Amino acid sequence: MSRAACVEIDLGAVERNFDRLQACAPTADVMAVVKADAYGHGLERVAQRLAAKAAAFGVASLADGERLRAVGIRQPIVALAGIDQAPDIETARRLAVDLVVHHQSQVVLLATATPAAPLRVYLKIDTGMHRLGFPADQVQAVHAQLRSLPAVGEIVLMSHLARSDDDDPAATAAQIARFDAATVGLGGRVSLANSAAVLRSPQACRDMIRPGGALYGLSPIARTPGVALGLEPAMRLVTRLIAVNDVAAGAAIGYGGSFTAPAPMRIGIAAIGYGDGYPRAAGDGTPVLVAGQLTRTVGRVSMDLLAVDVTPIGGADVGARVVLWGPELPIETIAAAAGTIGYELACGIQQRVAVRDF
Ligand SMILES: *Cc1c(COP(=O)(O)O)cnc(C)c1O
Repeated sequence: MSRAACVEIDLGAVERNFDRLQACAPTADVMAVVKADAYGHGLERVAQRLAAKAAAFGVASLADGERLRAVGIRQPIVALAGIDQAPDIETARRLAVDLVVHHQSQVVLLATATPAAPLRVYLKIDTGMHRLGFPADQVQAVHAQLRSLPAVGEIVLMSHLARSDDDDPAATAAQIARFDAATVGLGGRVSLANSAAVLRSPQACRDMIRPGGALYGLSPIARTPGVALGLEPAMRLVTRLIAVNDVAAGAAIGYGGSFTAPAPMRIGIAAIGYGDGYPRAAGDGTPVLVAGQLTRTVGRVSMDLLAVDVTPIGGADVGARVVLWGPELPIETIAAAAGTIGYELACGIQQRVAVRDF
């Protein structure tokens, strides 16, 4: 028998979020970003659901591209970090995966390669993120070099925005201005906008937008749940109570005895823990739903188990349904309790957690 913990995925919500993002940039193509197993929502199932709408898919590795080709995905797939080994070029050609080129070492690999067909590349420009990309003053020369290589076909121009989730739009405006100055006269398609920029920066929405988190209803913006942005959460993390016990006042609950019952309590034990991806950093008092009613966690999260207060909840017997996050309880609330963001929690769902449709 499998464990009770499972994620319920609402692919209809993913599709409606896609439509909402497309409506922000009606003429742009959408590259649906599906790295990290579609932010924990399932790479293949998400891509298949969006196959009729997405112009391209963004992945983290050629291996993800291979998984998508294996289930019949036909549109362009973009390896967002490109490649770092010579044999990868032939693999990319075989899979028809487009490559981000962000570093001179990748230009060298392409210069020595003779793939059977030219590859589409995304020339990545560092306009202020200072993570990946060519400095603005090298862009014209790198572009000319790429254009001269037989291994290179179309060149799309791209950059990544570091602060599109900021309340202050100045940093994003400066990045866009730097991008425009660096690419003067180059022509070609342009891609700048991640989820936050799609929602907040129309001027960043050029030929192709690249939303990831927002597709899944995850908020890209601090202190704002996805629902407040018109997004629908697509993941619900659920389990069941496998024990309900009465404890006396003074009972210390769980590892380290960090929580002591101030009065007689009923404690439910839910089959979920950090081994499933529920964050151990979420302390005492994190909200949780049991049998549809709001209550809180007590004591430390352990690997497989989580204690919850069911004292006030009628009908909270063994087998009661427990919702850790989902449409009824924003993932951003749990993330805040754990000192992180919804993206990290969704990506952190572990392999042993079963996946079901809503
Ligand atoms: C992950 C990623 C995105 C998507 O970012 P979100 O905030 O999830 O929308 C877009 N572009 C690149 C290059 C990425 O790595």
